[in-house]
Amino acid sequence: MRDPMPNAFVAGAVDLPETEAALVARRQNVLGPAYRLFYERPVHLVRGEGVWLYDPDGNAYLDTYNNVASVGHCHPHVLAATARQAGLLASHTRYLHDTVLTYAEKLLSHFPPALCHVMFTCTGSEANDLAIRLARAATGGMGVIVTENAYHGVTAAVAEFSPSLGPGVPLGAHVRTVPAPDARLGDPAVVFTAHVQAAIADLQRHGIRPAVLIVDTIFSSDGVFAQPAGFLAGAVAAIRAAGGLFIADEVQPGFGRTGDAMWGFQRHGVVPDMVSLGKPMGNGYPVAGLVMQPHVVADFGMKARYFNTFGGNAVAAATAMAVLEVVEGEGLQDNARTVGAMFAGALRGLGGPLGEVRQAGLFLGVDVLRDGAPDAALAGRIVNGLREERVLISATGPKGHVLKIRPPLVFGAEHVAIFAERLGRVLARL
Ligand code: PMP
Repeated sequence: MRDPMPNAFVAGAVDLPETEAALVARRQNVLGPAYRLFYERPVHLVRGEGVWLYDPDGNAYLDTYNNVASVGHCHPHVLAATARQAGLLASHTRYLHDTVLTYAEKLLSHFPPALCHVMFTCTGSEANDLAIRLARAATGGMGVIVTENAYHGVTAAVAEFSPSLGPGVPLGAHVRTVPAPDARLGDPAVVFTAHVQAAIADLQRHGIRPAVLIVDTIFSSDGVFAQPAGFLAGAVAAIRAAGGLFIADEVQPGFGRTGDAMWGFQRHGVVPDMVSLGKPMGNGYPVAGLVMQPHVVADFGMKARYFNTFGGNAVAAATAMAVLEVVEGEGLQDNARTVGAMFAGALRGLGGPLGEVRQAGLFLGVDVLRDGAPDAALAGRIVNGLREERVLISATGPKGHVLKIRPPLVFGAEHVAIFAERLGRVLARL
């Protein structure tokens, strides 16, 4: 079976130092067989600050991968907010409390006015799981349309429409996949729309009413497809015409990463029915959520109740508020735009096996090719070569040949220069 995670550590493939070998053995003993580690030689981390991560010997690794610590590892403003609230009250949303409401109001102020409710969860998976429940209640449909290598999460319902988990995790009978919007296959505004229309027709032919089209608006696990902005509009219109809803999964691109917008869907000029949020929302603290238009939840809210023990608790809300304050106060969306463009330019200049660079803000995907064909093994050598140079990235896409680069948003020009220099050394050694 295909391993869904390229570049995963393989036990016994390389000799590890004593400390790391002992940690690997303990992991296998207590965490069991389902976990994976990045890199041929796993990285052992003990501390993070800004864009840097440190191993026990004090070696610094340039973090060019972790979009969770979006405002930088261990940001002092966020830490202070978490500590302050944890020292006051850590209760849940069944009591009246100001913080979660203040945060909700601030968060929603970053959305188009139609998206005016938010429900809180702890993970992106839970947000998507809730989205599917709401969509089914609102539409009476079951059908789900996703891209061919999408990832939307780990719950039973969501894993059924996360094809990137591989053939060992079967798709639901109500799920249809469409090819990712790769502009090299034709104008995605036309081609992607046509694929979604065909998926709708196929669902209907099998007696399944379409409920949703859900996409990660940066198409991260499909290989990063961001351009040309605007191409999603036709597909969104198609699912709505069929009685379904459009869910923008912003777990990866949200909170300013794409540079030209706070949310990936805004680049496409559409207003989703629901928007799922996660990863960077708490800069590492587990807080996630689902933003929606009121019509989506009206009926559900009459018939069902929603409670999530930790979702949106006072500490989560205070932490998420601090993250948003940093994104705004430090101009991180602007930084993502300018540094992201610079980063793409630096990568395009390196040549060698690097092919197309696809980018929006600080989300970049770079094809690795040999004789013009995708080469996952070569991508793996680059990822592991960079790890030896103490730079962290990974690879993605259905063929595993796309370098996935998405550093904390506090990445600067000086970090791009370090990255380019070290990647140049790796490429020269290939
Ligand atoms: N959607 C997307 C696009 C994701 O990338 C992920 C996580 N990688 C999720 C949903 C699930 O989020 P979580 O791991 O917080 O459950």
